Amino acid sequence: MDFFQYRDGALFAEDVPMARIAQEVGTPVYIYSRATFERHARVFAEALSGLPKKPHIAFAVKSNPNLAVLSLLSKQGYGADVVSGGEMARALAAGVPAEDIVFSGVGKSAKELVAGLEAQIGQFNIESEEEGVELAQIAAERGELARCALRVNPDIDAGTHEKISTGKKDNKFGVPIDQAVAIYARLAALPGLEMRGLAVHIGSQLGDLAPLEMAFLKLGELLAEVRAGGDTVTHIDLGGGLGVPYKKGEEMPSPAQYGAMVQRVTANWDVTLMFEPGRVIAGNAGVLLTQVVRVKRNANRDPFVIVDAAMNDLARPALYGAWHDFDAVEPNGARMVANIVGPICETGDTFATAREIDAVATGDLAVFRTAGAYGATMASSYNSRGFVAEVMVDGDQFEVVADRILPEAITAAERVPAFLKDS
Ligand SMILES: *Cc1c(COP(=O)(O)O)cnc(C)c1O
Repeated sequence: MDFFQYRDGALFAEDVPMARIAQEVGTPVYIYSRATFERHARVFAEALSGLPKKPHIAFAVKSNPNLAVLSLLSKQGYGADVVSGGEMARALAAGVPAEDIVFSGVGKSAKELVAGLEAQIGQFNIESEEEGVELAQIAAERGELARCALRVNPDIDAGTHEKISTGKKDNKFGVPIDQAVAIYARLAALPGLEMRGLAVHIGSQLGDLAPLEMAFLKLGELLAEVRAGGDTVTHIDLGGGLGVPYKKGEEMPSPAQYGAMVQRVTANWDVTLMFEPGRVIAGNAGVLLTQVVRVKRNANRDPFVIVDAAMNDLARPALYGAWHDFDAVEPNGARMVANIVGPICETGDTFATAREIDAVATGDLAVFRTAGAYGATMASSYNSRGFVAEVMVDGDQFEVVADRILPEAITAAERVPAFLKDS
């Protein structure tokens, strides 16, 4: 459920007409709804409220790292799951307490490990024995203790797009589950590390709970083996991955169903559970508002609706062939079949092919829905287009929460070297 609804034939973000945002901020622009974010955060937390111990929920920052979003979720009691020093700095800047930050990622540099220790973050999710050894050394030299979980690769096909699968043995993430007991024991013996948990994250946009349940069951067996070996496990991080509906009418497992499954599978674990939801919180809390540049009619094909947003602003369709619903802001009731494309000089800059949509014409406004996760955060400046603005709506007011970065600002950071000027 979200708060992007039609009123008297015009699309609103909460109580603000889309057209007003377009007029004041221009297009393309990402629009986030505070009420939707808060609702999603509450529903997800409530779905886990029956667990024996209060869980730790860390929002996956990479899905939407805007400071306003992190600040909003922090006020809802969410921590942050970060995958780079940049994301950690953002989470801290947004007011997320350091102890509520989990640092994931296969390629944390020594500099990032030091930064995490300096900030005294809550947990490092170690993705290899090598990383654990390096962190132990750095922490021991500093006379500190790094709280760690070992990320395990359970070798499970999440049944999602291959580019967002992370839990198969061929993927780069985590340590092989059959070596996890031994690696955990070796890391637990190192000064500098406090091994306290296990972590798993098998992929994103999962439309079926079965692969998650299989991964959690495997993790439960591993938990027993690690404890049987004499090591301590107090925390288990179950990652993120819950899918969201991108198409009207599409069915997805609900947070409540997910929570019930987690509660059943983990009933005897006696640990603090941790979660890293991203998309399920942010996805439907944002839209990308765009304007039709023109409609190009070719002889043998459906017309091209050329919009002012492009693959650099919203990469998912080009990257994964992903679907985003496209709705006119003021639909006139007519429908058309069209290809929706951006202005970029790549055939991949296609949002939809032969799609039935609201009939639109030059100058009309429209939105790509479900753009709150993996939207603005994946933007590039390809074709020297700059970065789009982001807006957050709260009732009948809104504020720009990320300025539009013009191509000129990017060019200003470049220079022609002296050796080219002189010759
Ligand atoms: C991306 C990621 C998440 C979030 O995944 P969603 O599908 O957005 O919930 C959680 N944990 C880790 C380690 C990730 O890399």
